[in-house]
Amino acid sequence: MSASSFPLVLPKVQDTALETTKYENLLRALRNRRLNVARLDHTPLDITVDMCTACHLRCPYCATGSGVLDRKAQVLGLDEHRRILDFCGEQLFTIWYFSNGEPLLNKRLHQIVADAKRYGIFTVISTSLSVPLSATRIDEILYSGLDLISCSIDGPDAATYNRYRIGGDFNLVQSNLERLIARKRELGLQYPLIEWRYLVFRHNQDLQAETRHLAHAKGVDILELFQGSAPAQAPEGAVAAMTGGLLSPAISGPAVEAGLRRRDTLLRRYLPELSINPGEPGPGLLGRKCDWLYFGSMFYPDGSVGPCCVLGNSDTDFGQRGPGMDYRALWNNPKYLDARASFPTPPPNPRSICAHCPAPQVQDWFFRQSLRAYLLNAPEWFIQAVLAEPDQLFYPVDLYLMPDEFMALKRYQQAKPSVRQAGEPG
Ligand code: SF4
Repeated sequence: MSASSFPLVLPKVQDTALETTKYENLLRALRNRRLNVARLDHTPLDITVDMCTACHLRCPYCATGSGVLDRKAQVLGLDEHRRILDFCGEQLFTIWYFSNGEPLLNKRLHQIVADAKRYGIFTVISTSLSVPLSATRIDEILYSGLDLISCSIDGPDAATYNRYRIGGDFNLVQSNLERLIARKRELGLQYPLIEWRYLVFRHNQDLQAETRHLAHAKGVDILELFQGSAPAQAPEGAVAAMTGGLLSPAISGPAVEAGLRRRDTLLRRYLPELSINPGEPGPGLLGRKCDWLYFGSMFYPDGSVGPCCVLGNSDTDFGQRGPGMDYRALWNNPKYLDARASFPTPPPNPRSICAHCPAPQVQDWFFRQSLRAYLLNAPEWFIQAVLAEPDQLFYPVDLYLMPDEFMALKRYQQAKPSVRQAGEPG
């Protein structure tokens, strides 16, 4: 899941006490990020946790599949996961349970997810689905409270699929997909949403329409077409980058259509409309800060913590939980302080890996969809707090990247004369 459907499908936090805790934390996070505070008095709100650091497929441009990743193969245990929840569970909106491995290889996945659901957290896995699943396992997954299963299937037939998903079993994947959808319907469950994710490369770019037809016929909730990362000049026979465009719209399906019509939260009722793709970041807007350092963090099964999912190897970790070092201390340790101090003033702090970020284009971008979703679901007190001091909470780039949400805020303010008038985010 690339998160572009996230603002459409994320539900409001149901428990009022947890909602208050999460939004109070978000308010502190926005203020700390806007003021470039290095030592934070908030905790992460949206984290990535590797359910497993191994995978049995050999996808050529994946660090794990290609054998580039130096990390030991491990599965996340219940105790380590509970320590993460002890640190920030009440404040978290979302956990993405995947980065460097196949989540279904963790047999405790359903128990881990069930633990997170007690904190009102939206939970997501991304899987190849190329793992044998018994009827019992399917029920465990469906009953766990998992909110979204994103299934990576880059072709409508086995030959196309296996060009990239080397070692994957297309027939097994299709069978699992059909069984998950059928059982979910039988149980009358709304969640998990089931997404078919199709990475588009040169070899499969002409099959997008056929795949869309097949995916919708099978009854998936979301189909996402996403540009696969590959060299433009790949050697003969290797997977190469696409040359055409993505079929429009890039995300489709009943959950997307329902999401576009949603008016079930206060700010959504003030939306003129909700676009799928917000404004793209332009030159000069990037590199001012990194939202990963304020909103998220990357947790590994052995207690290691990295700043983001862009970096994968253990030598880029910011620390490891252990005796005398808990997750709360790691969140403000010297490496984090150095990294946050790397922005926004050049020259960046050369001691930090973030000063040499391998993917600076994500810095203003990665959390944008999450932020949109949290704003759209916000309670009224939070919206009023935002309107009271927008320039203390947002950068101009936020206004540019979230035009629908800021338009809705403006319309709400105009309709509520009691709300103090405030200027545009500065
Ligand atoms: S600046 Fe780059 S390396 Fe550092 S946390 Fe952000 S994305 Fe990761």
